[in-house]
Amino acid sequence: MSIKENILYFDEQLRQTPCRLVAVSKTHPVESILEAYHAGHRIFGENKAQELADKYEQLPHDINWHLIGHLQTNKVKYIAKFVDTIQSVDSLKLLVEINKRAEMHGRTLPINCMLQISIADEKTKYGMTCDEAEELLRSEEYRQMKYISITGVMGIATNTDNEQQLRAEFMQLRNCFTRLKETYFIGSDYFKEISMGMSSDWQLAVAEGSTMIRVGSGIFGARDYSK
Ligand SMILES: *Cc1c(COP(=O)(O)O)cnc(C)c1O
Repeated sequence: MSIKENILYFDEQLRQTPCRLVAVSKTHPVESILEAYHAGHRIFGENKAQELADKYEQLPHDINWHLIGHLQTNKVKYIAKFVDTIQSVDSLKLLVEINKRAEMHGRTLPINCMLQISIADEKTKYGMTCDEAEELLRSEEYRQMKYISITGVMGIATNTDNEQQLRAEFMQLRNCFTRLKETYFIGSDYFKEISMGMSSDWQLAVAEGSTMIRVGSGIFGARDYSK
């Protein structure tokens, strides 16, 4: 299927759900992104700050860009001016830098941030425990921030086809979301996102309450890292 057909397929699949699609365009050229754009899609995700900044310059400015990969504090400056959402916030230190850079750019809208929670069994380097996320939200530094808005949580499940395990990991993220919502965001409508599900597991994620799936190869085809 073409990129356009894939976008229309996901639109149709998600139409009766509260879930939205982030089209993950990392490694793919701007021409491919434009094909999805002309099919009506506006939310795109990249995992590297510099690649994201390059593509932002070349593409229409009504795209909502999401950074979904690990972000080093010294790279926040490349994207702070324009990024809609940083889904991969995994430390207070990073959040401090994002808030600072957003202020420096005099943004009219805050940078939306999601707390990345580690839910996979293979111990990936990134992501906080739900306890660590709570600790961040309780900190005085976080409370003083004016240029960021925490919109939810994000997680990457284990790369497995074991459905029981995937469901358990998605449920773990949803439970963390609920706990943070009830403790820190009661009445805060902006805290509403559970970003989970990728090309191989998005249906299970939607069934477990995902509000945002991040799909790359399922839209743009296989990635070629040799280029
Ligand atoms: C690459 C990536 C995706 C999309 O992966 P696919 O398997 O191609 O759908 C989703 N989330 C994150 C964090 C990624 O880095």
